[in-house]
Amino acid sequence: MSRRSGKFRRVLSRIFKERQIYHRSDGVVHFISMSSKTQIALATIVGAALLWVAYASVNVVFKEQIIVAKDRDSRIMETTYSKRLHDAQRAYDDVSELNQIIKQNFDETMADISSRHQLLQNMVERKASIDQSLDALAAGLSQAGGPSGQRPTNGNRVMIDVTPGEPTPRQSRISAARKKAAEKIESENAASPQKGAASEAIKSMNKAAADLYTEQMLLLASLEEKATTQRDYLTKVLTSAGIPVESVVTPAKISNTMLAQGGPFIDLTAGEADADFYLHANRTAAAVDELAALQTAIQNVPLSSPLIVGRRFTSGFGVRRDPINGKYSRHNGIDFAAAWASPVTATADGVVKFAGTRSGFGRCVEINHGNGFVTRYAHMNRISVKTGQKVKLHDKVGELGNSGRSTGPHVHYEILYKGKPLNPRRFIEAGRYVFES
Ligand SMILES: [Zn+2]
Repeated sequence: MSRRSGKFRRVLSRIFKERQIYHRSDGVVHFISMSSKTQIALATIVGAALLWVAYASVNVVFKEQIIVAKDRDSRIMETTYSKRLHDAQRAYDDVSELNQIIKQNFDETMADISSRHQLLQNMVERKASIDQSLDALAAGLSQAGGPSGQRPTNGNRVMIDVTPGEPTPRQSRISAARKKAAEKIESENAASPQKGAASEAIKSMNKAAADLYTEQMLLLASLEEKATTQRDYLTKVLTSAGIPVESVVTPAKISNTMLAQGGPFIDLTAGEADADFYLHANRTAAAVDELAALQTAIQNVPLSSPLIVGRRFTSGFGVRRDPINGKYSRHNGIDFAAAWASPVTATADGVVKFAGTRSGFGRCVEINHGNGFVTRYAHMNRISVKTGQKVKLHDKVGELGNSGRSTGPHVHYEILYKGKPLNPRRFIEAGRYVFES
């Protein structure tokens, strides 16, 4: 260490050996002697000054560039940041716009589906209530059986089961419904925005909605088929009894069910598929309305027998030899014989029009069933109803007897339609069709 520092000192003293600087002014010579130490100190000061100047110069020269570089970096960062922020904002806007589009489409689709559903539900409920009434009527009528008391051969099979509509709608109906549904998707997809995710979501929703539409169309078709089958059947029942159907039922042009929904029964702003649904629905509802009218009418048509107990059919309707005076005369009703004081019952719902004694008929009851129908029960032993009293099917009106112009215990039963006697046997036979195949 001391050797090395001694060497360094020797080098220094060689470089900075003692110097004399001569200076002459005005003929006088001065000299300045500079020791090694002084020279080293001066050199150090000069060196330090040079270093400072160099540093300052570099700083001055490059500062601008450093600032520019720093500025550029921060600008790049700022741009990247704001670009990302903008992207995020746009993504958010896209998502919320997407949500809005999807929600709007969803709301519209749901409104379509639920208005069709509401309509179908009303019709299905109405049809179910008609079926229930018809079942009750069929069950009631089966109690009395046929004209001579024949019981239904196959149990209490109600008409609705006996003549089911086609169990499944025809193939043509299914393909028609599918075709309409496909057209519906196409038209709705065409109307919906074509851009990315919203379009996809809406398309898959439209597909699901179209499947529901198909189901609704098929339900409608099946409902229409059942309603028209039943309507036609009940019409045949009435026709077979000789009842002019148009006198009890007015065919519906525009369905009451549809009108009861309120608003236009065909939405003209709806697409073709929807219009198709509503037209079909109107037709179906009209069939249901007619069925309901027939069911109400048939409820008051005397389709049963005045005796639900064991009985014998003893005398028919029309011209016959009078059992008392032997002359040919018209018999305006039919006669049943049964045990003395057997209950005589109403053959349909109605209001007692007359309860008392009539010349020839003895103790007699007449019931007004509405729609021009009146039934008469004669030769009774006892009357159990009063004029003005409401009666239901198979309510007791009196007891079988032998009063009036009668040769033995029996009930004389008449059906008058607008005052004109009709053959009751045909009505009782028609009643069998309601509960029997
Ligand atoms: Zn008679």
